[in-house]
Amino acid sequence: MAANQSSPRPVLSIIAPVYNEEAILHELYRRITEVMETFGEPWELVLVNDGSWDRSYDIMLELHEQDPRVHIINFSRNFGHQIAITAGMDYAQGQAVVIIDADLQDPPQVILDLVAKWREGYEVVYAIRRERKGETWFKLWTAKMFYRLINKITGVNIPLDTGDFRLLDRKAVDALRQIREHHRFMRGLSVWIGFRQTGVMYVREERFAGETKYPFRKMLRFAMDGITSFSYLPLQLATYMGFTIAGLSVLGIIMTIILRLSGSHAFEGQATTLVMVLFLGGIQLISLGIIGEYLGRIYDEVKNRPLYIVDEAVGFERHHADPTRR
Ligand code: UDP
Ligand code: MG
Repeated sequence: MAANQSSPRPVLSIIAPVYNEEAILHELYRRITEVMETFGEPWELVLVNDGSWDRSYDIMLELHEQDPRVHIINFSRNFGHQIAITAGMDYAQGQAVVIIDADLQDPPQVILDLVAKWREGYEVVYAIRRERKGETWFKLWTAKMFYRLINKITGVNIPLDTGDFRLLDRKAVDALRQIREHHRFMRGLSVWIGFRQTGVMYVREERFAGETKYPFRKMLRFAMDGITSFSYLPLQLATYMGFTIAGLSVLGIIMTIILRLSGSHAFEGQATTLVMVLFLGGIQLISLGIIGEYLGRIYDEVKNRPLYIVDEAVGFERHHADPTRR
């Protein structure tokens, strides 16, 4: 194809990870094109199909046929939300990218607010949830506790009540692309890279259709990834507990000697011994488990497998994305 026939290089890339969202894709496309009418410069929509087994991929191909600004990365299987976002950034061609959930919980009109801040010169503009509709109290509460905990124990200050909905300037995208760790916690990493950062407020809507792809088990994994990739505190807990318990035992020894010398028969029973042994055994197993969590993650990093495998990439002009590139 002659160069002058190709579409202009997009200024903004909108990245949406998709896992079984057949009920949503048409509406997502409609809402995004509607909002982007007012943007006035070339843009692309990068849909990352994270191993959906419903009709999502067929719908994506239809959308691409209708509108060549729709570009698709089709994974060979499900690699997970955070990896899908990463692939989107690897392939995105824009001078800035916006990461948005496919389920329309992040309203597309907020993109314009993000862009306005970008035009003011910020490299990272995150969207802060002022209100969240249609979530269970349990999800709201655990999310709140999680962000407060992670900010307490990690060195990076993740802005409270933000998700992955954010705009990243090309500089920030290139910085993030250099980070190839497997257990990725993108909202932490995008703070870690630095640059000028700011936030805009928005109301998080209910899911447009379908149900959450983050069951409790996955959320827990995600939380563990967030904590372990930014903090050693869980590992250090063993040391703290060790010192505390050792300190207490010294007191116990002194007390026992005094009691024995004064002829007391307290603490003679086996129950005390048994309870103490079980208690310590529990603490030791927990500590081992914590070490295991880190060890497993180290193992995953050392194997150095590619982060994802692409079955097909549709519609991209420049294949500057090479997953094997470090
Ligand atoms: N998602 C994905 N891969 C997964 C799980 C989720 O690409 O393994 C996508 C999903 O399609 C959606 C986004 O990540 O666009 C957020 O997921 P979801 O809305 O289910 O999470 P929640 O908003 O309930 O936390
Ligand atoms: Mg959602």
